[in-house]
Amino acid sequence: DPRLEAISAAIRVVPDFPKKGIMFQDITTLLLDHKAFKHTIDIFVDRYRDMQISVVAGVEARGFLLGPSIALAIGAKFIPLRKPGKLPGKVISESYELEYGHDRLEMHVGTVEPRDRVIIIDDLVATGGTLSAAISLMESQGAEVVECACVIGLPEVKGQHKLKGKPLYVLVEPS
Ligand code: IMP
Repeated sequence: DPRLEAISAAIRVVPDFPKKGIMFQDITTLLLDHKAFKHTIDIFVDRYRDMQISVVAGVEARGFLLGPSIALAIGAKFIPLRKPGKLPGKVISESYELEYGHDRLEMHVGTVEPRDRVIIIDDLVATGGTLSAAISLMESQGAEVVECACVIGLPEVKGQHKLKGKPLYVLVEPS
């Protein structure tokens, strides 16, 4: 699919950000490239349009740049999964491990129902820890996670053992 090459080419790689040794995959340049950004959304929309998806859940912050466009196009709700302390209503919370320490994701209770079919979207998956926390949040409310979707997949997640057995769909690997 030539669209994937255009998407790959539009992602900027920034060495040593946010710290030395990290090759940061920056999708802000993808957002500047109308064609490549549209290809990205189109590919996800084509994939999920006929899968009876009722919820698109986006992971803060870059999942918020992708999820709403997909949700609108496939006729699903969008649910933001946020860092701690940001949501004003009653929340449930799931912690996950980082390289050094922990972080947490939160969602408003009452936003999903047991019959909801969910996709979870983020810009990038590395270890899968963040997506796993997102899966746990959805499952704790009885919703069914159909798939996790990311623009970029780092090679270390290949085994996807951390995604609680859920399928992972990624568009590109870092070049
Ligand atoms: P994981 O939990 O190890 O899979 O890391 C994925 C999370 O870290 C996602 O929320 C990403 O947005 C973020 N992340 C890690 N590395 C990068 C990067 O190079 N570019 C953009 N986001 C990254």
